[in-house]
Amino acid sequence: MRTDRTFTMLKPDSVEKGHIGAILEKINAAGFKIVAMKLTQMTVDDAKEFYAIHKERPFFGELVEYMTRGPIVAAILEKDNAVEDFRTLIGATNPEEAAEGTIRKLYAASIGENAVHGSDSDENAAIEGAFHFAGRDTF
Ligand code: UDP
Ligand code: MG
Repeated sequence: MRTDRTFTMLKPDSVEKGHIGAILEKINAAGFKIVAMKLTQMTVDDAKEFYAIHKERPFFGELVEYMTRGPIVAAILEKDNAVEDFRTLIGATNPEEAAEGTIRKLYAASIGENAVHGSDSDENAAIEGAFHFAGRDTF
């Protein structure tokens, strides 16, 4: 399993607020190379499958509604130690607990609408990247 790639989504709130450019700037400045990227919208079935691990959680319905309400930017990013370094760059799930300068501290509104996704393991990065991108669209 390669350890130099992670998967991200700039979630619907980031797209709605016009934060795509600013967030990509932070991602580039942190040394990540974009190896796949697109603007896309998840269907309800897509979101239920993508977040299946959370299906028993009380916030699941809201999460699916949020993630499907508009387009997202999906991307695969490359850098040494990608998964861990990207989680550091985005900050804690709850922006109130996120470190200064992190993407969620800067752009997230709440623990639910928290601007960005970042894979939590190399295994999930591979699964999530393959969920959104065909091999021929990954460079
Ligand atoms: N989420 C939420 N309420 C919570 C926890 C999570 O609405 O109490 C949402 C939030 O959008 C989060 C996503 O569910 O990013 C997935 O949760 P996870 O615990 O995997 O957080 P992440 O890995 O995104 O930091
Ligand atoms: Mg997670």
